[in-house]
Amino acid sequence: MIPGAAEYNIEIAFDEREVERALSVGPEDVSPAPKLTFAKNVFVPLTTACRYTCTYCTYFDPPGEASLLSREEVREILETGVEAGCTEALFTFGDDPDDRYTEIHDQLAAWGHDSIHTYLRELCELALDRGILPHSNPGDQTRKQMELVADLNPSMGVMLETTTEVQAHGGPRAKSPGQRLATLRTAGELGVPFTTGILVGIGEDWQDRAESLLAIRELHERYGHIQEVIIQPVSNNERWQEGSPDLDTMRRTVAMARATLPDEVSVQVPPNLAPVRELLDCGVDDLGGVSPITDDHINPDYAWPALRELEEIAAQAGVPLEERLPVHDRYVEEDWLSERVMREIESFSLISATRV
Ligand code: SF4
Repeated sequence: MIPGAAEYNIEIAFDEREVERALSVGPEDVSPAPKLTFAKNVFVPLTTACRYTCTYCTYFDPPGEASLLSREEVREILETGVEAGCTEALFTFGDDPDDRYTEIHDQLAAWGHDSIHTYLRELCELALDRGILPHSNPGDQTRKQMELVADLNPSMGVMLETTTEVQAHGGPRAKSPGQRLATLRTAGELGVPFTTGILVGIGEDWQDRAESLLAIRELHERYGHIQEVIIQPVSNNERWQEGSPDLDTMRRTVAMARATLPDEVSVQVPPNLAPVRELLDCGVDDLGGVSPITDDHINPDYAWPALRELEEIAAQAGVPLEERLPVHDRYVEEDWLSERVMREIESFSLISATRV
């Protein structure tokens, strides 16, 4: 039983034969993708407040030290992103940041907001007005929270990380796999194209990895909304010194993802964190949001490779590199998005066009 499943009414059962099938996959069982895609993004680290304290995470700051970007600061970041040709404004958060951080709550109130989500809505409108597409990743969300911003986000995301309980999520406020899956389900119910993923090396085992991928697949089969699944290795930083998964583990996990997920769901690895050149033959087809101008605020020790390096990676694999929007083309073509978002998308000329 997935921890938290009963509390969040998650009905996902794993067929042992499916788990065994996933566990049997190796790199030799999958084919390299015929092309690689990426999106150009700008990071907007809206707040570093988070109700959780995951032991591998340097993103969160304790109460009293956490930041909240002002509308003016966000506007400047967005405009820098637009000037650099970015199409995605990646709004990153801790989880329920206004929950236990009194000063964040007070600041939001001073700016006329009773929650981080009403503030996010204002900033998503600002992004669209400036000609860049919001992709918000506000941790777990209730239906009410997601509904507040869904029509302004062509896609949203949250990492599932794992369906099991791990010590790395420990402490008095551990995040719940059941709640994460409920967030993924809510996105499906609301018709929000969604990015999720698993975090490799935080204490999960092979069975957990297989079950995590199968849980994502199950939700995608119900709603059709999962656009990409990130296979992310945990990385050393000032809070996490337990190392990263080795190359064989990453190769097998990526291959397992490719073989387990439907073809239309991209398998993504972050090129600043994973040895992407050694993973391409395992079925990677997407490099995610790559920022030409801002740091990876979630993993500040790991710089993005330059776009030229991505071209070299693709050339080494003998496949084309294509820029994409933060929402995959099929959701645009199949009319998943609001009129407001579609107006902006129509102003971009790169849907399905090669442009690096
Ligand atoms: S990984 Fe996410 S949920 Fe965990 S502490 Fe960091 S920001 Fe919060």
